[in-house]
Amino acid sequence: MSPVFNFSAGPAVLPREVLLEVQGELLSWHGSGMSVMEMSHRGKEFMQIAAEAEEDLRAVMGIPANYKVLFLQGGATTQFAMVPMNLIRGHASIDFVDTGHWSKLAMKEARKFGVSTHVVASAEDRGYCYVPAQDGWQRDPQAAYLHYTSNETLGGVEFPFIPDSDGVPLVCDMSSNFLSRPTDVSRFGLIYGGAQKNIGPAGLTIVIVREDLLGQTVSGTPTMFDYKIQAEGDSMYNTPPTFAIYVAGLVFKWMQRQGGLKAIEQRNIEKAALLYETIDTSNGFYHCPVEKAYRSRMNVPFKLAEERLDEDFIKEARARNLLQLKGHRSTGGMRASIYNAMPLEGVKALTAFMQDFARHHG
Ligand SMILES: *Cc1c(COP(=O)(O)O)cnc(C)c1O
Repeated sequence: MSPVFNFSAGPAVLPREVLLEVQGELLSWHGSGMSVMEMSHRGKEFMQIAAEAEEDLRAVMGIPANYKVLFLQGGATTQFAMVPMNLIRGHASIDFVDTGHWSKLAMKEARKFGVSTHVVASAEDRGYCYVPAQDGWQRDPQAAYLHYTSNETLGGVEFPFIPDSDGVPLVCDMSSNFLSRPTDVSRFGLIYGGAQKNIGPAGLTIVIVREDLLGQTVSGTPTMFDYKIQAEGDSMYNTPPTFAIYVAGLVFKWMQRQGGLKAIEQRNIEKAALLYETIDTSNGFYHCPVEKAYRSRMNVPFKLAEERLDEDFIKEARARNLLQLKGHRSTGGMRASIYNAMPLEGVKALTAFMQDFARHHG
């Protein structure tokens, strides 16, 4: 049987090597006689797993010592509320860059906390196919923080730069391009993301937050939603998502073996270039609506010129073991997510199929 390639946007493909490791130690972790799923989160085995996962993430990403790393639950969607609860700190407004689906949802949730949400720039005018240039942003120097979504998973729009926030804490929803390229963490007040796109299984949410921003929650903040309490308890105020932390830890080690973020970025550039080139040289058979400078390396949305062929495309792709290519229900068309764990040969198999399909149906 030829290999299966899974282009799901999330939960998404994991490195095969990591899945094999998990399989190998599923029943007995390192001779302990226990599965990681069965371990107390306060036992010495799991404490070691969690500590190593944090250490490896810090090493891979180069996280400075004055940042806390939290392993939480609730997904990025819970962070849409948790970030304002912790970071409003008496300010009257929050700045948002509106680049589409996820940035809009983050903003909607923040509005519940009695502050004004201010859109510094929006790409809605052209159907969210670009990132507005920074020199036109209308920022508020008094804002509690500036929030942006570094990669819009549905729209396939990715920031090619880290915004300048001039002293205002910069907050980023990095869910779908977390660890896909080197990132200067010191530019940020806070970074968050669900693990299920580029890091590990669903159920784990990673938050990286600068220490000086902790400890000023809005009144009524639940204990579990207080970053400071989570940081003081090493993310173990209650039972953490133990199995997901363990798998993410193995992914961080896999990333180190891949040569780290620079090497991973190079492969991501190569994969994305191949797929976009196939779309752009199809004589209009395929089309990607995103402007070239802002095209995502992780999520590649594209449409067939003839929508009536969509179903055949999905069916024939599946027959060639190319899975989960259907676009989001709100956008239609196709979307190929090509996260870190998607090998180049997977993208090659996809582009070969796309060319064959265009030849037969064009
Ligand atoms: C998937 C995604 C979310 C939502 O994540 P959940 O973990 O399902 O809450 C938020 N933001 C971005 C950019 C995403 O890709």
